[in-house]
Amino acid sequence: MTTLLETRNLTRHFKIGRNQVVHAVDDLSLTIAEREVVGLVGESGSGKSTFGKTILGLHDKTAGSVSYQGETLPGKYKPRDFQRLAARMQMIFQDPYSSLNPRMTVGEIIGEGLRLHKRLPPAGIREQVAHWLELVGLSADHMSRYPHEFSGGQRQRIGIARAMILEPEFVVCDEPISALDVSVQAQVINLLGELKDRMGLTLLFIAHDLSMVRYVSDRMAVMYLGSLVEIGPADQVYFQPRHPYTEILVSSNPEPDPQTERERQSTTIRGEIPSPVNVGAGCRFANRCPKVMDVCRRATPHLIPLQEVDRQVACHLYP
Ligand code: SF4
Repeated sequence: MTTLLETRNLTRHFKIGRNQVVHAVDDLSLTIAEREVVGLVGESGSGKSTFGKTILGLHDKTAGSVSYQGETLPGKYKPRDFQRLAARMQMIFQDPYSSLNPRMTVGEIIGEGLRLHKRLPPAGIREQVAHWLELVGLSADHMSRYPHEFSGGQRQRIGIARAMILEPEFVVCDEPISALDVSVQAQVINLLGELKDRMGLTLLFIAHDLSMVRYVSDRMAVMYLGSLVEIGPADQVYFQPRHPYTEILVSSNPEPDPQTERERQSTTIRGEIPSPVNVGAGCRFANRCPKVMDVCRRATPHLIPLQEVDRQVACHLYP
């Protein structure tokens, strides 16, 4: 498989005081192949969205690099970098309510990328917007309406059309269904799947619903407090998790069967994710891990390959 995108030791820190630094993303290396879907999971606050935004240049890189089709992208984007890369790399945002400008019509929102990046004439933009509205399951008649006139699922379809109209190769889907009713989540997932096949897309699919990520992804990466702790084929990670954090995440995924759900409660993760401010040495999961050892508090575990093909885990249980 040909590599499309690679992050090497990608780091994004935020200074919040004279001596305080938020370690949102730390030293994160990940390779994504052309047409691959990589699901990125973890609790809220683990740095998933920051990682996606840093890849796309929406956050400056503190350290490390992102290369795309062999080209190393700038650490800090200038307007001309967004101009050049927007047509190739796009993002679908989590909240379909706040991510659409309420003062713009749907036609203006979806067509803005074409106006800014492709400089099409108004008639050409209208034609493309109408085409994409139909493709995402809406109607060309919706072009003159405003976002507040649509349901959450319809708004997310508008957000998808806005991202796809530039025909990107790579899309970061940042929790695209978490703000939607369960009844429309499957529709949006199916739409993304259809567009992926039709356009040959590569996706980084960020979510906290592991069963949904397993369903849509080729590989699953698990993130905890700014670092990757496990990565591998999605089915393997879901059914045979190796890292204690992944084990608990999988076991705490909601189950429809009441009996299984009752048993599941005993393995629910303890406590809150710790503060990412001034993170020290040792395993970041140590204070919540049921298998913690002395070494875990002293030495930081790094991702190492397991015997299974294409699997890596960062845990001292696997020396
Ligand atoms: Fe648990 Fe230690 Fe593995 Fe961290 S390194 S997950 S504390 S066993």
